[in-house]
Amino acid sequence: ALAVTAVPISDGQNPNSTALLLTDLSEQRRLDAVRRDFVANVSHELKTPVGALTLLAEAVQDAADAPEAVARFAGRMQHESSRLAKLVGELMELSRVQGVDPMPGGSEADVAVLVADAVDRERLAAETASIAIDVQCEDDLVVRGNAEQLTAAIANLVENAVAYSEPDTRVSVTARAGADHQARPIVDIVVTDQGIGIDSTDQDRIFERFYRVDPARSRATGGTGLGLAIVKNIVTNHLGRVSVSSVPGAGSTFTIRLPRVHSVAGSSVLEPEVG
Ligand code: ADP
Repeated sequence: ALAVTAVPISDGQNPNSTALLLTDLSEQRRLDAVRRDFVANVSHELKTPVGALTLLAEAVQDAADAPEAVARFAGRMQHESSRLAKLVGELMELSRVQGVDPMPGGSEADVAVLVADAVDRERLAAETASIAIDVQCEDDLVVRGNAEQLTAAIANLVENAVAYSEPDTRVSVTARAGADHQARPIVDIVVTDQGIGIDSTDQDRIFERFYRVDPARSRATGGTGLGLAIVKNIVTNHLGRVSVSSVPGAGSTFTIRLPRVHSVAGSSVLEPEVG
């Protein structure tokens, strides 16, 4: 559906000209629907911990003379409020990285350092879950961008790999140089797990905001459903791609592909978006 609006324009030669402005309403309607869905999702996600906190506060009041119960309720309040804090933090992160124009910019970063920092952040969670993380990075892999965001994106994939695996399995993180189908230099950062895997019908959808294959499992592991949407936005802003391949029951592999920078005597050339 197209909307037509007449807009008066005047220049020196044609003081009474009119331009016709065509607006694609179907695209606008689609965007409105996406926005409404998002607000509905956010409200729903906020409602759960806020509702729990309200009930727990009431329970604390009722249990004023039973210190053990009070302590138990307080513990659960702490759990709910940290969940709330994580959700708000990820919503803010998402709004920071989404809809940003792909902007090369930033500084050069050594991929081995990004990976090491990312893995360090997830070390404790992995140990707690009895999951070993193997890291293998080639030397001299240089990308350009926001190191903090790229580290967060890699850490997010490692966090998921740990969260969706059983104890006593391994997660591997590798980084290697390569070329895309147009022979442009790239780096592939690959996170592989031996976890529950992802059905092919879900593989297309997991990068959507709030999409979870198993909402109960995601919540149980402290997931918000926003992690992969954040990863996708960060990687896209860095002119890269993120992809998944998986065999349900056997494990998943997530790959972040970024343009690789040639460092030649201090100057560098950024390649266009990778394919
Ligand atoms: P969440 O906070 O729920 O983990 P994400 O956006 O990070 O949200 O991931 C979306 C969904 O994709 C998860 O809820 C889970 O169902 C699925 N998923 C992500 N990573 C993996 C993985 N490594 N193995 C299996 N499932 C995964």
